Amino acid sequence: MFVDKINVGRRQWLRAGVGSLVLCLGRAELAWGAELLKVRVWPALDYTRVTLESDAPLTTHHALLTDPDRLMIDIDGLVLSPTLRELIGKVQADDPYIAQVRIGQNRPHVVRLVFDLKEQVAPQLFSLAPVDRYQHRLVFDLYPLTAPDPLMKLLRDSAAKSRAMEALPPLELPLPLALPDTSAATNEGGDDPIADLTRQIDQQAQSASAARAARPMHNKKPVLQRLLTVAIDPGHGGEDPGAIGRAGSREKDVVLSIARRLQTKIDALPNMRAMLTRDADYFVPLHVRVQKARRVNADLFLSIHADAFVMPHARGASVFALSAHGASSAAARWMANKENASDQVGGVSIATKDKATTRLLLDLSTTAQIRDSLKLGGALLNAMGQVNRLHKRFVEQASFAVLKAPDIPSVLIETAFISNPEEEAKLNNESYQDQVAEAIVKGVREYFSKNPPLARQPLL
Ligand SMILES: [Zn+2]
Repeated sequence: MFVDKINVGRRQWLRAGVGSLVLCLGRAELAWGAELLKVRVWPALDYTRVTLESDAPLTTHHALLTDPDRLMIDIDGLVLSPTLRELIGKVQADDPYIAQVRIGQNRPHVVRLVFDLKEQVAPQLFSLAPVDRYQHRLVFDLYPLTAPDPLMKLLRDSAAKSRAMEALPPLELPLPLALPDTSAATNEGGDDPIADLTRQIDQQAQSASAARAARPMHNKKPVLQRLLTVAIDPGHGGEDPGAIGRAGSREKDVVLSIARRLQTKIDALPNMRAMLTRDADYFVPLHVRVQKARRVNADLFLSIHADAFVMPHARGASVFALSAHGASSAAARWMANKENASDQVGGVSIATKDKATTRLLLDLSTTAQIRDSLKLGGALLNAMGQVNRLHKRFVEQASFAVLKAPDIPSVLIETAFISNPEEEAKLNNESYQDQVAEAIVKGVREYFSKNPPLARQPLL
């Protein structure tokens, strides 16, 4: 019934690039309904998101039309406003899916948006209740009909390196050298506002490192005939800025910058390649990050974050692994709750949540995943301790949703406290970002040198 109205009635469009048409609205119309507070557009290859934030919930009707492809949305209880018109200028020419947006007052109290599309899309429209810094949000996610495949991209990007590795004769591939153990060198302690970990976890970390030490270093390693794949997960993005420092730095920006440096360094190694779960400023739901890592058969999953705490003097780097049986400390539980809230702030539709119900259950293989993740975390802490003080000297554990790939050693790295003004400045410093990335590479190489991954089926 919506579609029937397309060619009837008065239509007054505002076009991007023209934009000279001004609608005259009566005072009564302006005073009616919800007030639009902000419009935001997050373009990305995965999907383009448009968010309308308002002081009251909005209801919509929409229709997809072809020849040419467009998405029409009627929003009830809204009148054209300068804020809404900002949407026209916020759609960029290089948006993967939206060519332009037109906006008109279709009827009194009903605004019509028309997104002219560059290709057919599968839209998801949903609203979000107020959360965190946001009031009511109306969200349009424009997904391509066929999702970009992270595996195809990775294989394309690393094809030459993969061929070079396969050409190596057997048994002649050098493994990365182990790094010296510097775990005792760094934590200064004394200024930690968060409660200490339990003795139990301390013992767990010690036994993990004892197991590592007991393992022979250079005896008959299995030969690596394939590239090792590291999934790098820059936390937050798009609607979810993550933690915000006192000077205004956003966690999502600094972690993306560190992640890109890390990717470059890993890709420069002859026997590794890296995949980013996001390489732009848009939100990726937590389970999608895990799915992407599993799709590329990742050998490791590194989620990169920057910490925040109410006390500005909290400082230092931390590493977290998954816990199958509750958090290792109140602080670790608090941190997991905070990071898991990313889906609420970032905004996940019901349809996406339903897909997540097929999410991986904790099973027997998780025990091995956690054991390997603790080893990986230990190696990372050793290396991180050379460029920053450590908040904790051992790997903490809690139920982080993003660490739940049952078959990939997975850790979450809090690179520093963005809530600490001194560390916020460091996180914005390019050479510090580089040092952190370098330290993570060292930790990863140390882990692989002591725990060479088993042979796997080739990806293709
Ligand atoms: Zn975070």
